[in-house]
Amino acid sequence: MDPNRLHAEIAEVVRRGNCSGCGACALLDKDVVLELADNGFIRPRIGASGPSDTDPTALAEFRQSCPGVSVQAQRPVGTRRHDFLGPIVSIWEAYALDEDIRFKGSSGGTLTALNEWLIATGQIDSVVVAAASDSNPAKTETSSVRTRADIVRATGSRYAPTASAAAADMDNRASAVVGKPCEVAALRALAKSRDQQSPLLLSFFCAGVPSQHATESLIHDLGVDDGAEVATVRYRGHGWPGDFYVEDAHGNSVRTSYDVSWGKHLGPAVQQRCKLCPDGVGESADISAGDFWRTDSSGYPDFTDQDGLSVLIARTRRGEDVIRRAAEEGVIAISAIDPDAVADVQPFQVVRRATLLGRMAGSRLAGHAAPRYRGFRLWRLSLRSPLRTLRAMAGTFRRARRW
Ligand SMILES: Cc1cc2nc3c(=O)[nH]c(=O)nc-3n(C[C@H](O)[C@H](O)[C@H](O)COP(=O)(O)OP(=O)(O)OC[C@H]3O[C@@H](n4cnc5c(N)ncnc54)[C@H](O)[C@@H]3O)c2cc1C
Ligand code: SF4
Repeated sequence: MDPNRLHAEIAEVVRRGNCSGCGACALLDKDVVLELADNGFIRPRIGASGPSDTDPTALAEFRQSCPGVSVQAQRPVGTRRHDFLGPIVSIWEAYALDEDIRFKGSSGGTLTALNEWLIATGQIDSVVVAAASDSNPAKTETSSVRTRADIVRATGSRYAPTASAAAADMDNRASAVVGKPCEVAALRALAKSRDQQSPLLLSFFCAGVPSQHATESLIHDLGVDDGAEVATVRYRGHGWPGDFYVEDAHGNSVRTSYDVSWGKHLGPAVQQRCKLCPDGVGESADISAGDFWRTDSSGYPDFTDQDGLSVLIARTRRGEDVIRRAAEEGVIAISAIDPDAVADVQPFQVVRRATLLGRMAGSRLAGHAAPRYRGFRLWRLSLRSPLRTLRAMAGTFRRARRW
């Protein structure tokens, strides 16, 4: 196969603004590396060492797995499908029983507690996580780790680009990957195209990846001098949801609420692909976690600090087995919940999916074709509220002409 054909198709996904920066293409060709680009998002860089020998199946695998080309909704055995939450074997309110992990966790510390237990009991030998960079904690790095210390160090959400799929070991079923929905979708599709069993895939609800520049400007706006040495940058956690927190090398700290950091700085800076995403809930994972927000009297998520609570969704039998055994062994507390109660406290995810078809049409009219999405029942959702779909189409058309 001509390796340049693969390179050309990767470049086209990037050019169209459909690249999520997931990193899966780096698994297909050693000549593709993922790097932070000038726009503050991670993108593939091609041809670092000139044309290379590429596996002849790589192009077909790319077309099937790249979430900038297409995403196929999964239908694992034993699942029922929820319009907004995807395939469900079982669904739970959950939190880590280790108090330190729950406190540090993004919501209930469930993903960290599961990873820590899976490693400690020898069920997996490594897990891909994202954590603050040692050399510059304002940046985020992905790596495959094997120790409790490294897993716990990666607790919490990083609202910044990572290319977690690039660090996966696809040949090792006894490994795990924590990745955003697009990253696990790419890995699931890649495993399917190879007729291979994938590593254990863990994901979380995701409203999109903000540019790295948004982290840097937020730190600046909080009064930290550009170029000052920072020792800690935390996006949330240490309480639920916890603050955006920066500490310098001398122990001085500044912070702002989740409402302000996400609502005013990070949220508005998400990449184009995320605005047209069909899956913000980790449908392709074995297990997916999200915030199980409490709501205020008007029904909106209440961001006043409290003990963290996650929703955990088992999407495969493998995922369900992990959740149930972890609960039996005192790793996490779980109680069964109604999926509609979860959709009720995730208004962003519900509206984004319900209006996606309209936004995709608006984007296409403005000259930007979105990836192909199959099996998400987007027609059905859009027809439930045609007026809202039309409004979404018009709004996206206006904005997309400036993309
Ligand atoms: C970009 C982003 C968007 C999010 N949007 C939503 C949302 O719309 N709704 C919602 O309910 N919750 C959202 N979350 C939070 C997410 O749902 C919680 O992380 C989830 O509830 C898991 O909580 P936990 O306490 O079990 O995880 P923890 O035990 O704290 O573990 C979190 C795990 O996620 C990994 N991780 C952190 N950041 C990244 C990253 N950028 N890429 C890949 N892996 C990462 C860490 O390595 C760690 O293993 C978002 C998180 C991120 C990073
Ligand atoms: S979406 Fe992922 S697989 Fe597709 S080009 Fe971007 S980084 Fe590569």
